[in-house]
This record gives sequence, C-alpha cells and structure tokens, in this order.
Amino acid sequence: MKIVENAGTMMLMPAAPGTCPICATKHDPNMPHNRDSLYYQVRFQMENGRGPTWLDAMEHCSDIVKEMWTEALKEHGINLDKEKAPTEAATSDVSAHSNNQVKNTSDSKSCQDALNNI
Ligand SMILES: [Zn+2]
Repeated sequence: MKIVENAGTMMLMPAAPGTCPICATKHDPNMPHNRDSLYYQVRFQMENGRGPTWLDAMEHCSDIVKEMWTEALKEHGINLDKEKAPTEAATSDVSAHSNNQVKNTSDSKSCQDALNNI
C-alpha cells in the first residue's frame, strides 16, 4: 500500500503543456509572470506565505524589461513603488524627509543672509 505523503498539504497540478510552469500562462520566458494568474498566486502563496506583487512577477527579468513593465503598468494606474516592502518604503521616506530638512536649513540660512543685507 502506498503511503500518501504531504497529506493535508495543498498540492498544485502541473501547468498545462506549452505554458509557463510558474504561472501557467503562455508568455515569453524573458517577460514577467502573469501576476493575475490564479495558478501563480496560489503557487506563490504556498512558497512564500504571501501573495505575489508585480515586482515578484518580474523578479527574473532583465533591468530593461523591468523598466518597460514598470512604465507600462504605471500607464495602467499600477505604481510599483507602492508595492515595495514596507521597510524599504519607510527608509526612503526617512531619507526624503531628512533631505527636506537639509533643504529647509539652507533655505532659512539664505533667508537670514538676505535679512542681514537689508
Ligand atoms: Zn510565468
């Protein structure tokens, strides 16, 4: 008798022949996976414990392809900057904030200089 391993673990059927084994969608291997593919979403969730973002879908692509897709998605109202990990976004926010402070400081200094010249 064959013992069933992984009983209770969710299993996925292999993707249909001729389609991408990762997202089960027919696409050029150099192009991003279909993030909206249910197959991809379930598979990614099983492997990573979270749903995929477009950044995950184009992880394997060249920088040029990533750039093209980032622009194309932006035209569809999808801003990939918002899909970055929260910690990354927080870090960039902090640096933007401190840049503003530096700018404000130099602005107020030039303001002081202008006042001194009166
Ligand atoms: Zn794919």
